[in-house]
Amino acid sequence: MAEEETIVKKEPVEAVDLETRILELCKQNPDGVDDSAILVDMPQFDANQRVQAINRLLSTAKIDLLKSGNKLVYKLKDPSSASVVKGSDNQEKVVYQIIKEAGNRGIWIRDIRYQSNLLLTQVNKILKNLESKKLIKAVKSVAASKKKVYMLYELEPDRSVTGGAWYSDQDFESEFVEVLNQQCFKYLNEKAANARETLSTPIMQRNASFASSTDVWKYISELGISKVKLAVEDIETILDTLIYDGKVERSIVAGPCSSSGASGSITKLYRAIKPLIQPTGLTRMPCGTCPVFHLCSEDGVISPTSCIYMKEWLDY
Ligand code: SF4
Repeated sequence: MAEEETIVKKEPVEAVDLETRILELCKQNPDGVDDSAILVDMPQFDANQRVQAINRLLSTAKIDLLKSGNKLVYKLKDPSSASVVKGSDNQEKVVYQIIKEAGNRGIWIRDIRYQSNLLLTQVNKILKNLESKKLIKAVKSVAASKKKVYMLYELEPDRSVTGGAWYSDQDFESEFVEVLNQQCFKYLNEKAANARETLSTPIMQRNASFASSTDVWKYISELGISKVKLAVEDIETILDTLIYDGKVERSIVAGPCSSSGASGSITKLYRAIKPLIQPTGLTRMPCGTCPVFHLCSEDGVISPTSCIYMKEWLDY
């Protein structure tokens, strides 16, 4: 008898029960719930009722429709973006979510198409809509000058997209790099000259001529020659170019490990050096020791036409 009552209670279809149960299912499965899971859980509701309930949950921004692998799943709405795409259709929500997941590295339109299974014309239209609502933005990537990546409007693009301090509007700031290059070398050279003048033994002179990358960074920061805020890593990149030029050498000093077993710190020290013999002619050709040789091509961002090392070599 009790069994009959239970069956009878299930008969009247309450749309609100269906919506509550879908929300519960989504809560229990944070990775998402697909249509077949909803069907298995609630076989008493027909397809039309399920679709209506899902549409209501989507339109009231309680769940998201996302792509997971090759299937579409429903997930509880991320509260931080609950109101962001309100009023958008499902395709727009899918594209927005794909872009959101790409973070500040952004995503190519080709990958958005692949992940959303939408046609190029549809994706283009959606991207334009999202851009006009200032939900996303297109950013030119230094990795390929003709390609744009899409990311959420409020995000600061990753250095791999903007090229960091060395790029302005996707253009390599070769003059700025050259000035920094000269100033870093000047600092190290003066330190070495000072050590030679004030200390008597070669070992003491050598030790005193080293400066850490943080010291060089402080010197450059105090000069105030950079419009952008430079990090110590930026200065290390410049110092690396001086090493490749044979003007500077580097020494790594490892600090002691802590008692807790954590590995010790590493300090990079640099000093200006004088090459023992001056290279001449062909041996000066920069490409043989160039660290970006594999990225260099005639129509690329790094090219022999714009290369300052090549220009110097040809002018020599
Ligand atoms: S042209 Fe310049 S950037 Fe290109 S490989 Fe030679 S040195 Fe490197």
